Amino acid sequence: MRIGFGYDAHRLDIGRKCVLCGVEIPSSFGPDGHSDADVPIHALMDAMLGAAALGDIGNYFPNSDKRWEMADSDELLKEIYRLVLKSGYTLGNADVTIVLESPRLSPYIEQMRIRLSEALGVDIGRISVKATTEEKMGFTGAGTGVSAMAVVLLEE
Ligand code: MG
Repeated sequence: MRIGFGYDAHRLDIGRKCVLCGVEIPSSFGPDGHSDADVPIHALMDAMLGAAALGDIGNYFPNSDKRWEMADSDELLKEIYRLVLKSGYTLGNADVTIVLESPRLSPYIEQMRIRLSEALGVDIGRISVKATTEEKMGFTGAGTGVSAMAVVLLEE
């Protein structure tokens, strides 16, 4: 078994779509970035790559590469999981935490789990998504950004 950890954070900007774990959240602002800036999926991909010791997402989807501009993170996740499978591992389980002051994510958590499990082709029982705030502290608390952490267990 192999364990991996991933972290990502993006600035929040007015007028950006708010797509987290592939689910569009109704909001007047969303994470800014080169791709669709799906912060928890970026953290999840890095956790997978970390567990397999395959580098990080910057190696596969560089910011400088026009191909990944506004890329759908679902598709990037599928691509990363293909690499993981090719290196001889399958997903044991994944646990993702999103840190966002507002909007409240609890109504969307199940949809996010479904979306991730479908993208990866794994049972939903292997996928956990959680959300928290930082009680008005720091950049997430001030509403200037969103961050996410993920841990992944891979099985040979
Ligand atoms: Mg990112």
